[in-house]
Amino acid sequence: MAAEPDAGFGLYVHWPFCRSKCPYCDFNSRPAGAIDQPRWAAALLAELDYFADRTPGRRPTSLFFGGGTPSLLDPEIVSAIVTRVRARWDCAPDWEVSLESNPDSADAGRFQAYRDGGVTRLSLGLQALDDTALRWLGRPHDVAEGRAALELARTVFPRLSFDLIHSRPGQSLAAWRDELALALTFAPDHLSLYQLTIEDGTVFGARGVEPPDDDTGRALLDLTRAMTAAVGLPAYEVSNHARPGAECRHNLTYWRGGDWVGIGPGAHGRLGVAAIAQNRDPDTWLAAVETIGHGTETEETLSPESLAAERVMMGLRLAAGIDIGALAAGCGLAVEQVIDRRGLARLIEAGLVESDGDRLRATPDGWPLLDSVLAMLLV
Ligand code: SF4
Repeated sequence: MAAEPDAGFGLYVHWPFCRSKCPYCDFNSRPAGAIDQPRWAAALLAELDYFADRTPGRRPTSLFFGGGTPSLLDPEIVSAIVTRVRARWDCAPDWEVSLESNPDSADAGRFQAYRDGGVTRLSLGLQALDDTALRWLGRPHDVAEGRAALELARTVFPRLSFDLIHSRPGQSLAAWRDELALALTFAPDHLSLYQLTIEDGTVFGARGVEPPDDDTGRALLDLTRAMTAAVGLPAYEVSNHARPGAECRHNLTYWRGGDWVGIGPGAHGRLGVAAIAQNRDPDTWLAAVETIGHGTETEETLSPESLAAERVMMGLRLAAGIDIGALAAGCGLAVEQVIDRRGLARLIEAGLVESDGDRLRATPDGWPLLDSVLAMLLV
């Protein structure tokens, strides 16, 4: 079940704790109480070993510490995980080691130690460059602290990205223009610019927070794309912008249909046709790893059709789109078993998808409507 040839092979480590729970967040994260970090380190390393035994001969192109807030992990543990990965797999010489960090000063104080431990790329959760918005988003840092962390990170890590959230209720185009313009003065190589979505099960969901209407949301997206493209940071994915060559290699593996191993509570992985999910609950995961060496809750064999649909769904998030012929063949299917040609013709006519031979791309009009595009495209 071959993916794109340059899809890579990723390793993901999930750290499920944060200082507090942000009101918009539906990730598998919870406020950290007293955490026995050595115990957690032993469990993460044990699960890493379990997956190393299952993937002999694979060459990791990336390792990603996500969460939660993995900058709450002691730097020695990050270093131990990087060291163990290098001992268990033959990593690509230019592999990428990313860590997500909050920009508060406590975490920033550990940047050098993370770098010394092997982290090559930092992803900083700034989320806003406006103190009122940061308070509303429940973030513990302010703009000054965020900017200080950014400046420091720039001197420490070879590669750096930061996140901002737009489409906040009441946010005007002019306000977002100013905020994004300020962000672009920091000369980033990579930016993740997310539209605020209100999810069930979050504090914002319970409060009935309303995102901007469709027209305003679309105008904010168009402005974002125009401003980033103008400074050489085009969207290479729905929410991600980079200078050519500075794309997040780990996330490219997901979008290009590659394989990856997921370690830690709630992590997901894909190994060929195997869709693997670890227990979401940290205590359940920890107990399972300590008993049987891994915390896998489910392992499902994907049908060729499901795998192909997943790859179309992920691949159309990329500006480069997908090679539908190669994608179908990689799943052992004919193109007609993956996409509906009449649906495709209608999408092209509506200007939501464009095709160039076998290569299909969602257009700027199609990206905000990706769910509907997929519903019409997939058989
Ligand atoms: S810091 Fe990130 S993962 Fe943690 S609660 Fe906030 S948004 Fe969620």
